[in-house]
Amino acid sequence: MIKRYIFSIVILTSIHAKAQTIVQRDPVIDSLVKEVSSDSLKGYIDKLVSFGTRSTVSTITDKARGIGAARKWVVQKFTEFGKGSNGRLTAYVDTTTLQPDGKRIDVAVNLGNAMAILKGTDTSDMRVYIISGHLDSRVTDVMNRTAAAPGANDDGSGVAAVLECARIMSKHRFGATIIFVAVSGEEQGLLGAAYLASTALKKSWNVDAMLNNDIMGSNNSNETNIIDNTKVRVFSEGLPAFELDKNAASIRNMGLENDGRSRQLARYVKEIGERYVDNLEVVMIYRNDRFLRGGDHTPFVQAGYAAVRITEMNENFNHQHQDLRTEKGVVYGDLPEFMDFEYLRKNTAVNLATLASLASAPTAPQEVKVRVKDLTNSTTLTWQRPKSGPAKGFYVLLRETTSPVWQKKFFTTTTTMTLPYSKDNYFFAVQSVNGSGNESLPVIPTVAR
Ligand SMILES: [Zn+2]
Repeated sequence: MIKRYIFSIVILTSIHAKAQTIVQRDPVIDSLVKEVSSDSLKGYIDKLVSFGTRSTVSTITDKARGIGAARKWVVQKFTEFGKGSNGRLTAYVDTTTLQPDGKRIDVAVNLGNAMAILKGTDTSDMRVYIISGHLDSRVTDVMNRTAAAPGANDDGSGVAAVLECARIMSKHRFGATIIFVAVSGEEQGLLGAAYLASTALKKSWNVDAMLNNDIMGSNNSNETNIIDNTKVRVFSEGLPAFELDKNAASIRNMGLENDGRSRQLARYVKEIGERYVDNLEVVMIYRNDRFLRGGDHTPFVQAGYAAVRITEMNENFNHQHQDLRTEKGVVYGDLPEFMDFEYLRKNTAVNLATLASLASAPTAPQEVKVRVKDLTNSTTLTWQRPKSGPAKGFYVLLRETTSPVWQKKFFTTTTTMTLPYSKDNYFFAVQSVNGSGNESLPVIPTVAR
């Protein structure tokens, strides 16, 4: 039988070059990306700052100040956006009571995540995508519940990105479900994200990817003179936190220490982000988070989901976790005036493009296998068609073992492919693709004997 694959796309990369040439921009996603507005992002952040403090342990009853008023406002915005969604976007505060933990919760706290769920239009597609930022803010003393804690960048930037994605995406239809969330309790120990991840497990949500946005709207470092709004970091775990012991043998045998689910998601964010957002490089960092620090994707990673953290390239620590003050002419505090809203626009657009691409794509191919029955210098892969979503075909992806990103894509409409590249020397994966070029997350093959 004649092989029916077409060498339609060959993507060449070098490690330092902007990763991949444009494959195909879906005009629908392209137009959504263009709607992301630095003015509306600034508007959300000014409003968030106006609540004075958004400390998780601040008041929830005051109408104008504190985390309670802030989360009510976020849900009100979600509800407003939902009016254009034909009832598909629903918003609520998901609350739980936290008891004193001897750490960063000193009295019982009513913790609330501000949630909006945009229901997918394909009822056979159970995938859920989550985008998060954290609503809570802090000053130098994490237990200070009354001092001004504007939290413009940490993490007004992430919450603004969530709101802007909800505003734009709620007017459109996606096959899969998208959850927009401003979690609380991040600064007290990732408590809102942990509560959400446990809800996802309890309710058996099929979370295909989670994007945590935290500190992504400032373009400079406090120690150096770097000012740069052309790079953003995406952090992903190396060895999986979830079931590592169970999978250690196959990870070791096949050299898959760089191919966990979150790392695949990070590659996807890089490829799609750079496909749709101009003048921005998505820099993959091979770490779950910044050195010895944590974030809201971690409870999801620990629950076995693919989750990454998106954060600005350089952090300015004069404007993070600081009491508002001026010392020797230096202004400390997390204020909007220190932010770059054009940079935040681009970083928000990376999120939107990634979510829109994933939620429009067919589900991933199933039963992806690499044949090892005979010793050969070529590689044969087989798979099954996806459960839902119209797949026009599949891409087989290939990269050298030392390459951080996929280097070639081979298109086929069939469910098998033999390539003249040895599985000894390359990594392979398969992803589904629809007629508009929207790809699923790639699946690494298991062994078929
Ligand atoms: Zn933060």
